[in-house]
Amino acid sequence: MNATPSYYTDELYEILSSPKHTEVIDALRPNSTYVLDISNEKIIDIYVETGKNFMTYLFDAVIKVIVDKKGSSALKTYRNLRIELTGSTIISMHDITSREHEGKTITFDCTVIAAEPPKTYVKRGVAVCILCGNEEECVANQDREINIPRCTTPSCKLAKMKLDSSRVVTDDIQTLLMQEPMDKAKNHSPVILMGKIIGTNVGTVFIGQPKRITGIFRSIIDYKTNENEVLIDVASIEDLEETELIKPDEETISKLKLKSEKEPDEYKSEIVNSFAPHIFGYSEIKESVLLSLLGGSNNSKKRGDIHMLMVGDPSMAKSEILKSAKSITQKSIYTSGKGATAAGLTIGMVKLPNGTQVAQAGVLPLCSGGFALIDEFDKMGREDRSSMHEAMEQQTVSIAKAGTKMTLPAEATILAAANPKFGKYDSDQSLGDNLEIPSPLISRFDIIWLFLDDVHRDKDRAKAKHIIESFKKNNNKDYDTYLSDTELMSVLNYARELEPVLNDETVERILKLYEKLRELGREEQQQKLPVGVRQLEAIVRMSTAHAKLMLRSHVLPEDVDAVQKIMSDSLDSFGLDLNKGGFNQSFLDGLKTKDTKERIALSVWYKVADDKGNVKSEKFLKELTEAPKFDENSASRYFSQWEQQNKVKMNKDGTWRRT
Ligand SMILES: [Zn+2]
Repeated sequence: MNATPSYYTDELYEILSSPKHTEVIDALRPNSTYVLDISNEKIIDIYVETGKNFMTYLFDAVIKVIVDKKGSSALKTYRNLRIELTGSTIISMHDITSREHEGKTITFDCTVIAAEPPKTYVKRGVAVCILCGNEEECVANQDREINIPRCTTPSCKLAKMKLDSSRVVTDDIQTLLMQEPMDKAKNHSPVILMGKIIGTNVGTVFIGQPKRITGIFRSIIDYKTNENEVLIDVASIEDLEETELIKPDEETISKLKLKSEKEPDEYKSEIVNSFAPHIFGYSEIKESVLLSLLGGSNNSKKRGDIHMLMVGDPSMAKSEILKSAKSITQKSIYTSGKGATAAGLTIGMVKLPNGTQVAQAGVLPLCSGGFALIDEFDKMGREDRSSMHEAMEQQTVSIAKAGTKMTLPAEATILAAANPKFGKYDSDQSLGDNLEIPSPLISRFDIIWLFLDDVHRDKDRAKAKHIIESFKKNNNKDYDTYLSDTELMSVLNYARELEPVLNDETVERILKLYEKLRELGREEQQQKLPVGVRQLEAIVRMSTAHAKLMLRSHVLPEDVDAVQKIMSDSLDSFGLDLNKGGFNQSFLDGLKTKDTKERIALSVWYKVADDKGNVKSEKFLKELTEAPKFDENSASRYFSQWEQQNKVKMNKDGTWRRT
C-alpha cells in the first residue's frame, strides 16, 4: 500500500480524536510533554509501518487536535510541544518524581481520599476601563490565572481595567487528594498527591473510589520560597474495576463439600491448619480468624461482621496472625492503629495548600466491604476512639467539622491486636483496665482472645519458640498444607457468599449457649471480660460463619457447639470457665509464686466457694495458709483486711460472700 504522509496523519488524528485522548491533549500546555501509549494496536501498526517518520505524523496529528479546540493560533504556541512514546504508561505513585515527570503526562492508579466541594474558575471574560469604557477580552492561562490588562487609552494613564462579572465564562473545578492503593504502598505509608479536575469531570468523583488517573505533573511555583506544591492536572479519570474475587471450580467445591459431610472434624482441622501453617498451635484462634473472614448472615439488617480482638503481651504471634489473614483475603488492609495517614483509622480533616479543610477518609472507609487488619489497635488516636463506635456498630464514619459534614460507608470487618497499657498484662485487672481502649468499644468485639505467655499456659513458651524457629528457617512456603493460601482464599470467597439458614433445633441450641453466657455474666468475674446481650447476636453470627466454613446450607446444632467451644476457649484464655461460671482449674494450676497475693487469695476463694459462691471462713483460711506467699498470720490478716474494705460480707448462716 502506498500511503501518503497525510494519510498517516489522518489515521492518527482519527485515533487521537476519541475522548480518551482529547481529554489529555486538551489539558496540555505549550511547553509540556505529551506521553502517548502506543500499545494501542492501531497506533502500533502505524508505528511499525512508518518507522522513523512516525513522530512527524504524530506531531501533526496532535497539533490538529489542539487546533480543533484552541484555534489556528495553537499552530504557533504549541510548536515546542514534546511527544514521548511509551508502552505501558501506568506507573506506581511512589515512582512519580519531579526529575522524571515535571510537565509530563502520567497515568497511575489511586484511591480518592478527599474531595473539595466543586468551585468555578473564570475561563475568559471582558475587562472594562471605568474611565473611558474601553473593553478588552482576557483569557485564563494554563495555570488558570487571569491577567487583567491596563487601559491603553493614553489619557487613562494605564489605569487598571475591571472584569465585567456579568460577562464572564466559567467552568467547574475541584481539588482532590489521591492516595496510592494501600497494598502497593511502601512501609504502609501511601503516597498522597493533590489533583485538580476541571470541566465535566467535576462532581463525578467520590471519596473511597478507586480510579485510574491520567494527568500532568506540575509544580505550582511559589516565587517567594521556591518550595513548590505538587499538583496533578487531571486530564482523564477512569473507573478501576474492582478486583474480581477468585473462586474454586465446581469440582473442588463438591470435593470439599463431600469431605466436610463425611469427615467434618478432619475437614475442619485441615482447613484451619491450612491457615498460617508457620504459626504452631493457636488452632482455636486460627479458627475464629476464619469465622471473622467469613462473617455471619449476609442479608439481615443487623451487621454480619464478626469483629475479633487479640490482646496480650507484645509477641510475634498476634501481628503474624494478622499478616497471615492478609495473605488469604483479597480486599483487606493491614495497618497500625495509628493509621497510615492523618485521617487515621476512620475519618479526619486535612488542610489543603489553599488553606481549606476537607474531610479525608481513613483506613475503614477505604476497605469498606473488606477487612481491616489493625495491629497496635491501642495506639489509635483520640479522634478515632470516638468515631470507632459508629464504625463498628453502624458501619459508617462521620465527621462534622470546619463547615464539613460527611458520612462515609465503612463496612469493614475488624481484626485487631492490642498490647496492654503497661507492656504486660495484669490478670488482676479487668480487660478494660489493661487496655488503652474504652470498655464500650471493647464490647463491640464479638470474640476476644488473651495471649498470656508466662502464666496461663505453659504451652505458650513452646509455641513462641516454634514461631521464632520457623522464622529463622524462613521456610514458610514449605509447609505441606491441605490448601495453599490462594486455594484457601478462593474457598473463603466462595463460602462467604453462602447463606446457611437456622432451624428450630439450632435456635434452641443458640439460646442455651446464650443462657450459659448470661450465667457467667452474673458472676463477679464478669468485670474481667464484658459479657452482654450483644453476645446473643455474636453467637448467631459466629454459628452462621461456622456453617459457611463447613460449606453447609443450614446452620446445624454442631455449628453452635463449635462456637461454644471457641467461646469457651476464649473465656478460658481469660481464666473464666463457661461451664462452671468461675475461674477454672487450669487457671488455678497456672498460679505460681510470681502472682500477687490478691490474685492468689481470690483464686483460693473461688476454689473453696460452693455453688452459690459462699465460703466458709475456716476452710478458706486453711487453704490460704498453704498457698504460696501466705502463712497462718498473713492469711488471717488478709481476710480481716478484706472484711474492713467491705470486700467480703458474712451471710446469715455464718458463711461469707464476696461483695
Ligand atoms: Zn481607559
